[in-house]
Amino acid sequence: MMESREIQLKRRPVGTPAADDFAMVEVPVPAPAAGEVQVRNLWMAVDPAMRGRMSDAKSYIPPFELDAPMEGPAIGEVLASGDPGFAPGDLVFSRLGWREVFNAPASMLQQRDRKALPTQAWLCFAGMPGLTAYAGLIRIATLKPGDVVFVSAASGAVGSIACQIARNLGHKVIGSAGGAEKTAFLRDVLNVDAAIDYKAEPSLTKALAREVKAIGASGIDVYFDNVGGDHLQAALALANNFARFAICGMISQYNVTDAPTVPRNLTMLMTKRIRMEGYIALDHMDLEAAMVAQMTGWNAAGEMASAETVYDGIERALDAFHGLFTGANIGRTMVRLA
Ligand code: NDP
Repeated sequence: MMESREIQLKRRPVGTPAADDFAMVEVPVPAPAAGEVQVRNLWMAVDPAMRGRMSDAKSYIPPFELDAPMEGPAIGEVLASGDPGFAPGDLVFSRLGWREVFNAPASMLQQRDRKALPTQAWLCFAGMPGLTAYAGLIRIATLKPGDVVFVSAASGAVGSIACQIARNLGHKVIGSAGGAEKTAFLRDVLNVDAAIDYKAEPSLTKALAREVKAIGASGIDVYFDNVGGDHLQAALALANNFARFAICGMISQYNVTDAPTVPRNLTMLMTKRIRMEGYIALDHMDLEAAMVAQMTGWNAAGEMASAETVYDGIERALDAFHGLFTGANIGRTMVRLA
């Protein structure tokens, strides 16, 4: 019988997750039963939402179970199949990351086209980060010609795609990220119009005002928020009237145990008639086919840079996850499993 390694949650972390909140466990994997498929994961991705699922606070998605492998987006190859819809060699997407080889009911797997895109792209710009960025800009922020777009955590998985979508659609884009390497990436690879190193700025509001002026704009029309806190406060301060804020995430708040102190300027929502809307990409799966078609076209035209940080082996998966919160990673954070 085949053996596989998986990472289980052993204890619900308080604040920043610690190594002994998790355990690597070796498990036997029998031949797949009828209706099941056996998959070897090739890649898994980690994302900040997993931090939420490690705690048992009520959320839009259930918490990870204790003493069971965690879950997350993965792309794998079928090894053996007990279902007529799948054959060895098929490329499949699942939400069964954090493990190497597994059996799952066929209904938990989706076929992906090997030839259309590089394998990892199905976890990156043609996967959930792509859908998150696309839905946030197109549906939630209702991007309009001429909009100036501000993106926070702009060098990250979702942020780097949001920057590229806005840029490819002809918008001026200001991105914010932590550190000189990341801002160079924003300028040189993502071709944004202005980049802010928020870690080097004593006042994010002043920095955003400076960059708005530098690109010849009067303010921002769209804020794609990945961070919350100071970034949201600066975006409110620099918003034009009738700006739209797509609240995708608030990573600056996820490991915080005290009540948030910023933003302090929420009254601007009213005085500037700003529309601010939070959303969850899973509610916008109807946009997936349009998003994949758009991304495939941009990729073929060389207009979609694949931004990723790769860790090798399941034993590095927790390092990859920690890198999301320490700022160590650029683009989608992925673990190569085979
Ligand atoms: P990223 O790849 O962007 O990784 C997170 C990045 O956030 C880090 O690289 C880091 O970059 C930045 N960051 C971390 N802590 C802080 C902080 N205190 N202040 C400012 N920036 C910080 O992750 P994702 O692209 O997967 O996720 C981005 C956001 O989108 C998250 O908030 C996530 O929860 C949200 N999300 C929401 C979805 C939805 O459906 N609404 C779906 C998927 C993601 P830096 O070095 O620049 O600080």
